[in-house]
Amino acid sequence: MFLEVKGAKRTYGSDDNKIQVLKGIDVDLEEGKICTILGPSGSGKSTLLNVIGGLETIDSGEIIIDGINISKLSPKELTKYRRDLLGFIFQFYNLVPNLTVKENIEVCEYLSNNSLDMDELLNILGLYNHKDKFPRQLSGGQQQRAAIARALIKNPKLLLCDEPTGALDYKTSKEILELIQSVNEKYKTTMLIVTHNEAIKDMSHKVIKVRDGLIEESYENETIMPAKDVTW
Ligand code: ADP
Repeated sequence: MFLEVKGAKRTYGSDDNKIQVLKGIDVDLEEGKICTILGPSGSGKSTLLNVIGGLETIDSGEIIIDGINISKLSPKELTKYRRDLLGFIFQFYNLVPNLTVKENIEVCEYLSNNSLDMDELLNILGLYNHKDKFPRQLSGGQQQRAAIARALIKNPKLLLCDEPTGALDYKTSKEILELIQSVNEKYKTTMLIVTHNEAIKDMSHKVIKVRDGLIEESYENETIMPAKDVTW
């Protein structure tokens, strides 16, 4: 199994302000699959993504990614894990404003000796003609494409997406979903997508519903819908 989360628990705060956000979560996912994580606001989805991404630690349980038990890593080893294996995509792109599209991507390119071809990636993402522009000169969809290129350039084994279409209109969201699906097919990148958009579940291999810090439902789809046919 490429990704295994076993009995993950996480509490924030102390004494009277204690809140248990993850109450014993189990997830597994095979390599190359897309998994959508659904659930109401505050149910613990982002925290789950963040502990898998090594941005937060768990109090107990285990997280094993590609054979690495990340719950046992030192902060320095966690940094290496993030650098070597992971790509992140967020709702609000987080591009560096005074770097061009190409420069934003290059920041991450040097992190890997297994990086993808820059021009190929720019072409696939429809960014080639925008590569010398600054983020403020791009639409939201183009900025998200640039953020996706930045996450993908080092050819990560695992792509973590937190509300990747949350700030985009319907048409642009669909374009981004088509892109995410084609990247999954082309590069076999394993993907975890936290979203409020229920429609994304139809283009995922696996769907997990989180409620109040626990897995409420988990299932695999027998057929995967092409992203272009997903509607909401
Ligand atoms: P979701 O992504 O499902 O909306 P989150 O994982 O962001 O849920 O948050 C779950 C709960 O944990 C929320 O009640 C949130 O306020 C709380 N929480 C998240 N991060 C922190 C933090 N760093 N400190 C304290 N509470 C937090």
